[in-house]
Amino acid sequence: MTDYRTPLIAGNWKMFKTGAEAVQYAKALKKQVADVENTDIMIAPPFTALSAVSEILRDTRIGLGAQNIFWEKEGAFTGEISAPMLISAGCQYVIIGHSERRQYFGETDETVNRRLKAAANAGLIPILCVGETETQREAKKTFSVLDKQIKDGLNGLILDEHHPLVIAYEPVWAIGTGKTASPDQVQEVHAYIRKQIAKNFGNMLANAIRVLYGGSVKPDNVSGLMALPDVDGALVGGASLQPETFSQIIHF
Ligand code: PEP
Repeated sequence: MTDYRTPLIAGNWKMFKTGAEAVQYAKALKKQVADVENTDIMIAPPFTALSAVSEILRDTRIGLGAQNIFWEKEGAFTGEISAPMLISAGCQYVIIGHSERRQYFGETDETVNRRLKAAANAGLIPILCVGETETQREAKKTFSVLDKQIKDGLNGLILDEHHPLVIAYEPVWAIGTGKTASPDQVQEVHAYIRKQIAKNFGNMLANAIRVLYGGSVKPDNVSGLMALPDVDGALVGGASLQPETFSQIIHF
């Protein structure tokens, strides 16, 4: 069953890099990871760089992801972007429900759910981001917060082991702060997420799903995280912005 769980190292560039910078990066990363065989790789540049980067990544094992998606296919939705548009720009993955989207752009579990359905129905691999804030952790609400994000986020989705879904556990207090969750904290939450998936969707899916950790992952802490039994990869923000550093993480 572990066949489905090839490690995935994913880079979320956030709102960094112009098209030209993205192309330069993609060319460099392609060379640096040419030797990688047993790890899946994904980068998520801004929308404006997707098409150009996709040309460079053609015939490599570096996948392309978007940082968001809207649920309608087309229409009068100024500023939004749809699944067919992302697919035509070369994407295979899409990050959904990142804590920055939830915090600054009013995303809720309900809108996250609509985005997830649109992505999954179009054949994109969704990376659902979940995680608690520092206040919620201190108030011992981590598990109830995750329960809601997972249950409401995945509500009504048709999921089985052949329709890949990635979940990224990203404690909000560890994103961009330099604070990484301890290995015990990470393993405890990842095992819990898998248990919740088993409860709601069955053991087959729980054993097939990849659960990534995100939050200040760096070259010097990635191998400890990847050694944990329920960690199947990493979602990397800041440390994915330099191809050399990201390549070191990919070579964990
Ligand atoms: C992220 O943006 O998903 C993230 C984990 O950021 P960082 O690695 O910078 O903490």
